[in-house]
Amino acid sequence: MPDCPRCGTRMSMDDETTKLVEYRCTVCHTREVEHRTGSQSLRQGSPDVA
Ligand SMILES: [Zn+2]
Repeated sequence: MPDCPRCGTRMSMDDETTKLVEYRCTVCHTREVEHRTGSQSLRQGSPDVA
């Protein structure tokens, strides 16, 4: 489970599929998607701008 890139809070799993895992920070609602592309693990942050 990754930590939030913005506030450092432990993120909670929001959604999980065979292709990706989506985490959400319960504090600042930053979402982070971890793609499952074979053996590679690309991480793409998408912070919600208030
Ligand atoms: Zn956060």
